[in-house]
Amino acid sequence: STRVGVLALQGDVREHAALLTGLGADVVLVRRPDELSSVGGLVIPGGESSVIDKLSRIFGMQQPIRDAIAAGMPVLGTCAGLIMLADDIVDAIDGQESFGGLDVVVRRNAFGRQVESFEAELDVPALGVEPVSAAFIRGPVVESVGPRAQVLAALPDGRVVAVEQGELLGLSFHPEITGEKRFHERFLARVEARRRAMVTPRV
Ligand code: GLN
Repeated sequence: STRVGVLALQGDVREHAALLTGLGADVVLVRRPDELSSVGGLVIPGGESSVIDKLSRIFGMQQPIRDAIAAGMPVLGTCAGLIMLADDIVDAIDGQESFGGLDVVVRRNAFGRQVESFEAELDVPALGVEPVSAAFIRGPVVESVGPRAQVLAALPDGRVVAVEQGELLGLSFHPEITGEKRFHERFLARVEARRRAMVTPRV
């Protein structure tokens, strides 16, 4: 089965691990560089991006994750995980860094304090006709999308909440909470395709 990691420094690690296990993946909770090298893809969960950033540096994970992203490892980031994938963060906490990779600018806590949490039905053409029910929990919004990234979904008012760039997929919301499995399936398909492509063909 497909071996994938969930970055397990902080956040809703268990929800992602359960969903991926349910899809038949072999899930590793990743806290150390050697654990990262044992997986073919990584999920960065929701939580608090400034904390995930700090812990990733303390645990010596920032550079290995940046290297893995640069080497083309598939990564799915949700909410704080999207912030960690963004090349630029607006309203970052002092000194906060991201791993980067996604050619986007995200704004943290973009939906304000009154509306800390809401659900919305999203059209995501890349996933088919069935809409996505998305849970927003103090999530970021994608404020600008650079030429290398592609919009996967936006709210009816036009705010971008899902983006993709090569092997990277970033979501403002939490599919793991509403039981939406298609983003994780898309991620696993990428991991599997890349694994097959890396196996040396026999003549
Ligand atoms: N507000 C959080 C942050 O800035 C993200 C919230 C979430 O992941 N649910 O990292």
